[in-house]
Amino acid sequence: MNLQSLLETLVIPPFLKQITAVVVLIADTDGNVRDSNRGFRYLLGKEQSDTDLGNVRTMFLQPTLADLSASTEQTFPDPCYQGILNIGDHNGYHSVIGSVFQQGDLLLIIAEHNVSDLENLNAMVIDLNNEMADMQRELVRKNRALARSEEKYKQLMLTDSLTGLANRRHLKQRADADIERCSRYQEPMCLAIADIDHFKLINDSYGHDIGDLVLCTFAETVRQNIRKSDFVARVGGEEFAILLIKVSLEQAHEIIDNIRTKIAHHHIDSINQSITASFGITEFKPGDQLDQLMKRADTALYVAKRKGRNQVA
Ligand code: GH3
Ligand code: MG
Ligand code: MG
Repeated sequence: MNLQSLLETLVIPPFLKQITAVVVLIADTDGNVRDSNRGFRYLLGKEQSDTDLGNVRTMFLQPTLADLSASTEQTFPDPCYQGILNIGDHNGYHSVIGSVFQQGDLLLIIAEHNVSDLENLNAMVIDLNNEMADMQRELVRKNRALARSEEKYKQLMLTDSLTGLANRRHLKQRADADIERCSRYQEPMCLAIADIDHFKLINDSYGHDIGDLVLCTFAETVRQNIRKSDFVARVGGEEFAILLIKVSLEQAHEIIDNIRTKIAHHHIDSINQSITASFGITEFKPGDQLDQLMKRADTALYVAKRKGRNQVA
């Protein structure tokens, strides 16, 4: 079927009827539709409807149907118009590119969507998608970094900056959890408080920096001589608390006395005297909170100090 027979029969062949990408319309110069395909109805948003389109004169926005019929110098089979057709209504329009043929008062319009525009659009969508994927990756990275710094911050909040040991806040957290567990499973647990002996004298004799070094050495010695399940925190200037889990008072005494001996025998380069500490221990009793444990351990510590220091009470 050629173009001429399309116009003569006023019928669009079935293979063109169902195509959306190509626009085919046969209408008279007044805009009365003789036949149209799916592609044309798609432009008008009536793709699904088979009903008569009636008159489409006003749908030709630029050029108008009047413009098209006015330029009828060319007679079939040459097109009377070639180029962009803007078709739609006040709700919106589509630009298609094609040719208009005229014979008598009949117009045959064959056009297609601007493929290069679509390709450009497609390329833009691909670019945007890539950009979005990049941004998403960046977001994931930033979220991870944020989680890391949050973790670091939390860690700092719970750490003593001089010795790297847990601080009082961390001790409270740990002790609350340990107390809860020991109560539930009726397991023994002890708390010891250590206080370095005559530490003020060490500061006075060797300076504050050496005092700091002594604190760090003390912290390290305790850390190395408790089990993984135990816990040590710096709770004051030269005071430390040690939680001993699943340990009776007798066993705690043994563990702490071992630490006391290690400290007393530890040699620190810049100091020509031994550093000693005194310790008070108490055993967990049902109903105890950290405060009660600390108070009793403190009382025991005071006894150790009074009895001459460098001992466990
Ligand atoms: P005792 O045997 O009775 O415990 O005597 P002491 O001298 O150890 O006790 P005292 O409480 O009189 O002195 C503690 C000293 O610890 C006083 C303070 O200047 C010092 N100190 C507290 N925090 C720090 C610190 O972070 N670094 C240093 N170098 N010294 C500290
Ligand atoms: Mg003290
Ligand atoms: Mg002291």
